[in-house]
Amino acid sequence: MKSFWSGFVNHLGMIAATAAAFLIGLVATAIRERLERLIDEADPTMLLAMIVLCLIVALLSLALYLFHRPRLRFREKYGCWQDKKNGYMYCAECRSKRIFSPMKHEEHAWRCMVCSEYYPDPDNPMPRRPRVGVG
Ligand SMILES: [Zn+2]
Repeated sequence: MKSFWSGFVNHLGMIAATAAAFLIGLVATAIRERLERLIDEADPTMLLAMIVLCLIVALLSLALYLFHRPRLRFREKYGCWQDKKNGYMYCAECRSKRIFSPMKHEEHAWRCMVCSEYYPDPDNPMPRRPRVGVG
């Protein structure tokens, strides 16, 4: 009984996948025919202007990405990465996983908000408690 139902479900899956592939093929053919008709009817100078516009948008997007991406350098003193432009600190653990999220600056340390890694601030260390009951 169990094998009948698993076979039935497998057949349904195959039928659904075949139907989906058929529909995708129909839609792709319709889109291609429509695009070919548009290109045939379009003015060549208009097409050239559209291509130039697309190139300009792509170049502007690339420039924005390059301008806004963090430019990090490793700070041995702190054990983490720092953005050269804005001074934000980035977690070394997360950077190795290609996760770029600025850390939160607390009173005596930076804390990664992704993995909760803790980087003590050597310029502003945690004050030591006086030792009680020794000596
Ligand atoms: Zn982290």
